[in-house]
Amino acid sequence: GIITDISNAFCKLSGYSKEEIIGKPHNIMRHPDMSKKVFKEMWKQLKNGKSWSGELKNITKDGKVYWVEAVIHPNYVKNKLIGYTAIKHDITNKRHIEYLSITDELTKLYNRRYFNIKIEEEIKRAKREDYYLTFMMLDIDYFKKYNDTYGHQAGDIALQKISNVLIERSNRASDFAFRLGGEELGIIFSLDNEEKALKFANLIKSEIENLKIEHEGNSRSPYITASIGLVVKKGSKFLDSNDLYKEADENLYKAKAKGRNCIYY
Ligand code: GH3
Ligand code: MG
Ligand code: MG
Repeated sequence: GIITDISNAFCKLSGYSKEEIIGKPHNIMRHPDMSKKVFKEMWKQLKNGKSWSGELKNITKDGKVYWVEAVIHPNYVKNKLIGYTAIKHDITNKRHIEYLSITDELTKLYNRRYFNIKIEEEIKRAKREDYYLTFMMLDIDYFKKYNDTYGHQAGDIALQKISNVLIERSNRASDFAFRLGGEELGIIFSLDNEEKALKFANLIKSEIENLKIEHEGNSRSPYITASIGLVVKKGSKFLDSNDLYKEADENLYKAKAKGRNCIYY
């Protein structure tokens, strides 16, 4: 893992001069977000004499993020492994465009377009593994009144704060939080059983209320609250994404009818 040489192009990209980087371990450019699993797998391949290729998130000398598509292969001289060569392409722009295409600008949640892709993937996975999949649809209570009272800009800020709760609570690799439209948000996640899914939905609901965003037009609470429609199913019980969406939407409607600030399941 010690760097023996780099190209001028890579000096430019990484911000290091040759003198600075030669002799250093290659992981000084690793971004802390990168999962250790990736590197474990990489070294496994390389130590078996195979090449590895993949996309890596790196940081420059002064801490800027860049992405590379890397191909790494072992170098042999007379059957003796003498090191590795990595050929890297800067794909930072491509990554950024990908990020923009799946992210909602206001809330930084995944957008509806990505939801449509992800829901199909997750249903397939749940069916294949016959595992639980949960879809939670959430709608802010009396949000029109909130805008009318506090202004649209305050409404945007409230929406961002609520979205942050979802972002922070969906940090496992199998959790995804979306802005489905307007002030309707959704989470797809996978937990071992129905009880846990309900507990998770309750946690989200109470964390939103605990933001303590004053909302005098909300007859249910002094603060902004949300209603939740929840669907929990084992993979084999799923029909298709349209049915799942419809069921969550109906449950959300029932949560509203039950008086809001609650979960219908
Ligand atoms: P309830 O859901 O409790 O039935 O009442 P509601 O007033 O929230 O009704 P509904 O969900 O139909 O209304 C959605 C409102 O949310 C309409 C719109 O003013 C507001 N809204 C939607 N998207 C945004 C946004 O991006 N920013 C702001 N500030 N408001 C939004
Ligand atoms: Mg609403
Ligand atoms: Mg709505």
